[in-house]
Amino acid sequence: MNLVVLENTKKNYRSGEIEVPALKGLNLELEAGKFISFVGPSGSGKTTLLNLIGCLDQPTEGKIFVDGTEVSGMNRKDSAKFRGDKIGFIFQNFNLIPVLTVYENIEYPLIMVQNVPAPERKTRIDQLLAKVGMTDQKDKYPAQLSGGQKQRVAVARALVTQPKIVLADEPTANLDHATAFKVINLMHEMKNEFDASFIFATHDLKVVGEADIVYTMEDGQITKTEKRGE
Ligand code: ADP
Ligand code: MG
Repeated sequence: MNLVVLENTKKNYRSGEIEVPALKGLNLELEAGKFISFVGPSGSGKTTLLNLIGCLDQPTEGKIFVDGTEVSGMNRKDSAKFRGDKIGFIFQNFNLIPVLTVYENIEYPLIMVQNVPAPERKTRIDQLLAKVGMTDQKDKYPAQLSGGQKQRVAVARALVTQPKIVLADEPTANLDHATAFKVINLMHEMKNEFDASFIFATHDLKVVGEADIVYTMEDGQITKTEKRGE
């Protein structure tokens, strides 16, 4: 079974009187267990696509299946639940909650979305803190961390719910070259360790270099598919 299937998926945004076609009928089948990268110029539809796969938004037309469930047409409550169970998110701006510590930021989705009991929460968080190398920083607040450290926390937070898919939108855009490389390597390790699939939207050739499959997007369409190591 494919992890993500899109059938003639279209997305238009309405901006006043004008309809902006952001995705122009995508047909896609994404395999599980891969590092998948969507590349393309700004405005080509990468974020729109990730938001649809992540059940943050609904397509204008067409169908979307994630892990065998049709998510197109799902109501808000069901998509929130589905998202919380199946999907982790990593953002360009890290999106950590400033008033929570590192530990609490990672714990947050377990309390808010999954209602995991306290002892199980602690086990998972301690494990992830160790894996991302942030155990010593667990009582710090986001403002006290470097960009690379913030993104490590975000990686841990994305994985703590044991998602099937991690969606990462330009995750290295605010990191310097060396730090970006470390974060990409970390995500690669985590993919294998936690058996999650990673789907990226990126401009970063370092991310692209690590991907198993690279889809090029232009103007709301996929113009090229490149599979690596086959
Ligand atoms: P990318 O992530 O590749 O830069 P986006 O998915 O953000 O591309 O945008 C695709 C197109 O949709 C662009 O033309 C953009 O201006 C438009 N768009 C994105 N979000 C909105 C929105 N909320 N309202 C109107 N137009 C939007
Ligand atoms: Mg974008």
